[in-house]
Amino acid sequence: MPHEHTTAAILSVGDEITLGQTLDTNGPWLAQRLRDIGIVPVEHVTVPDNLARHAAALRRLGHEVDLIICTGGLGPTADDLTRQAMAQASDDSLVEDPLALAQVEAFFAARAREMPTINRGQAHRPSRGRTLPNLNGTAPGLHGTIGTAEVFCLPGPPGEMKPMFEHHVLPRLNPPSGRIVRTRVLHCFGIGESDLATRLGNLMDRTRSPLVGTTASGGVVSIRLRYEGPAPAVEAEALLDTCEHEARSLAGEFVFGAGEDRLSAVVLRLLRERGETLACVESCTGGLLEAMITETPGSSAAFVGGLVTYANEAKTELAGVPAAVLEFPGPGAVSAECALEMAAGGMDRLKASHCLAITGIAGPEGAVAATTNRAAKPVGTVFIARTSRAAGPDARRFQFPGDRSSVRSWAAVSALGMLRQHLAGLPLVRVLRQVEP
Ligand code: AMP
Ligand code: MG
Repeated sequence: MPHEHTTAAILSVGDEITLGQTLDTNGPWLAQRLRDIGIVPVEHVTVPDNLARHAAALRRLGHEVDLIICTGGLGPTADDLTRQAMAQASDDSLVEDPLALAQVEAFFAARAREMPTINRGQAHRPSRGRTLPNLNGTAPGLHGTIGTAEVFCLPGPPGEMKPMFEHHVLPRLNPPSGRIVRTRVLHCFGIGESDLATRLGNLMDRTRSPLVGTTASGGVVSIRLRYEGPAPAVEAEALLDTCEHEARSLAGEFVFGAGEDRLSAVVLRLLRERGETLACVESCTGGLLEAMITETPGSSAAFVGGLVTYANEAKTELAGVPAAVLEFPGPGAVSAECALEMAAGGMDRLKASHCLAITGIAGPEGAVAATTNRAAKPVGTVFIARTSRAAGPDARRFQFPGDRSSVRSWAAVSALGMLRQHLAGLPLVRVLRQVEP
């Protein structure tokens, strides 16, 4: 009876990861691949290049899960300790594997390079384990057992880790038969996570199946649906259909897409359906909104172009903002009036059906104190305006959180959200971070 893999742990190894210098992308990738086939990742552990910590993590996990997938620490240098950690955690010793040695030598020979002596260590494995071939690098993988868990150790570089997983790990995995995991995601804009959770109510009870959860990132709040249970898949999909339907009706107009949908792509699709075009005029976002829009393939069908009007002179020269708006005692460059003039000027000069304009204070400097004529404008104050040929304009004031980069990305996403509300014919309800003018 082969070992059944119901639960898995993912172990990422390396000082660069524990110290926060490299983002762990292997863990999320592996988790997704395991989930795809019905094995549930229950723990992600990160350890430094330290033999004792690495071996201790392997020993502990070896009694808690059915499968451990470890990445990193298989290089040739003194800080690559995965082979030793595997041997120590399984009370084994290292031996040289002649086939693995031939493969490491062949890797160098194919590149007309002499193998440095230290690479010989990469052909070592615990005596009761085996190696996995690496066609994309020098580090062979390892396969063994610790406690009750089957363990696979893969190289850290994603370009080597992924093909080794697909070719040498996946065929050896044994998900519990008849058990499946299926997920769906809905994306919302304009509502906060707590308010969304309130709307979803009992749907988020942790005892329900499918399980419903939310995550928030840069203004977009996502609803995650997960079915985990017995097959067949058609029944799981039917349960997810019902759950998705309920979630959509509870979240209402805030849902803008699902799965891989991005807000910019949704806006472009709505524009294309109407045969309309968009231009942008950006100040504090310096082109970020246009970058988001043009990330979508085929954006040229609806996106005309944009102006980056950073200095007051550029706002006047390029977008035609009257000096009286910018100069004292006018409302100034960071104002609803200025955003509206920018949008009107951009729509006119770029001959677009709609224009979005953004002006604000991204920080960390630039906060404006209150004076007798003007209200205070703290860092994070942003005005966004939409103008449209066939409809009246919309200008709103926002107070965005976080540092410069956070304020800028919130501003760009919020501008897209305002246009989507308009294009989708939705009531122009107040969105997240919008404040009184
Ligand atoms: P290794 O020599 O096997 O320890 O792998 C080291 C290289 O792989 C480093 O350059 C890292 O940038 C990359 N790497 C290691 N672990 C990860 C991980 N969990 N996610 C993304 N990259 C990683
Ligand atoms: Mg390393």
